[in-house]
Amino acid sequence: MEKVILLRYGEIHLKGLNRGFFEKFLIENIKKAISFSGATIKKIAGRYVVCDFNEENQEQIIEKLQKVFGLHSLSVALKLKTDIDEIKKFCAELVLNNGTFKVVVRRADKRFPIKSMEFAKELGGLILDNNPNLKVDVHTPEVEVKVDIREDGWTYISFQDIMCFGGMPVGTAGKGMLLLSGGIDSPVASFYMAKRGMIINAVHFYSFPYTSLQAKEKVIRLAKKMSEFCGHINLHFISFTKVQEEINRLCDNNYMIILMRRIMMRIAQKLSRKVGANAIITGENLGQVASQTIESITATNAVVSMPVFRPLIGFDKVEIIEVAKKIGTYDISIEPFEDCCTVFLPKKPVTRPKIEDVLEQEKKLDIEKLISQCLESCELIKI
Ligand code: ATP
Ligand code: MG
Repeated sequence: MEKVILLRYGEIHLKGLNRGFFEKFLIENIKKAISFSGATIKKIAGRYVVCDFNEENQEQIIEKLQKVFGLHSLSVALKLKTDIDEIKKFCAELVLNNGTFKVVVRRADKRFPIKSMEFAKELGGLILDNNPNLKVDVHTPEVEVKVDIREDGWTYISFQDIMCFGGMPVGTAGKGMLLLSGGIDSPVASFYMAKRGMIINAVHFYSFPYTSLQAKEKVIRLAKKMSEFCGHINLHFISFTKVQEEINRLCDNNYMIILMRRIMMRIAQKLSRKVGANAIITGENLGQVASQTIESITATNAVVSMPVFRPLIGFDKVEIIEVAKKIGTYDISIEPFEDCCTVFLPKKPVTRPKIEDVLEQEKKLDIEKLISQCLESCELIKI
């Protein structure tokens, strides 16, 4: 009897004529995720089946598949010929731990002659005969024996569903340029956008020597972690030192953050155009800090003409931290290296900037020149 991994997909089910487009990306992403194992993957109606893998790799394969967006859940399953006697024999010999169970039959193959409920009852009876200490519990069983009779002539029997993240396959929803700091929020923002199918490119601004080289190395490690679910990431590093020094030298220091933000956004837009990204992504969150009031967000938004996605806008910090832990970025994010936003920090940052005041401050800077100097410093790292 062959052991396989059965993959179920989520929202793609709802797609009509263009479902093929989404499936093409999904299968490619699945293949990439488990290419290390040499396993093969087959498509059957409504499912994918991972076969020919070495049992030693099973745990690692599952771990990788759980991070492929577009998959709803997966199960390790035993594959039997769809034959009444064979399925019955399997159940009659099944040994389960004591406790409660139920059998669920799913008859996707309508040629199978026995109705699902009826067959489930019969199989349940056989399992009970062999395991007299077991009890049936149809509401909250400890074990659910799933008998999935598919149209390909095979029946897949599994005992546990392992949940994946759902979402849409990466590659199906354009490309986004993430403003990636070394903090907790922006990696989580990338998770949510990749989950909706976006390819993630990223840009990080650093202020060497005010910020250390370790801070940069930390961002690379963050991006590597993110790539477990985002896939390949083009990470751009931009030296921001000159911008900060100029703002500090020429402008009212209380406008430091808002002025920096507006320049970051302009650079992110330029980079986006260059690499074919259609949106900017940030980890901003309403009200979290001075630079994230509605007035500040309005002022930063005003300098770009492409959509800015802020998937965390309505989250509480504790909720963001919970996700960061789940996706494995939290421990890296909390390492204590300074971000460029903490350099030349104003004493009383403006929290409700008026656009005319911001424009007045910007007149003191040669913004175009600063931006082209920043872009010249751009260094690309492929993750
Ligand atoms: P994060 O935890 O993502 O750093 P934060 O709570 O520290 O967010 P801010 O420092 O105000 O908030 O940053 C808001 C957003 O601006 C970040 O989520 C990120 O998208 C962007 N950002 C901040 N600093 C940088 C940087 N050095 N390089 C690139 N983007 C940045
Ligand atoms: Mg930050």
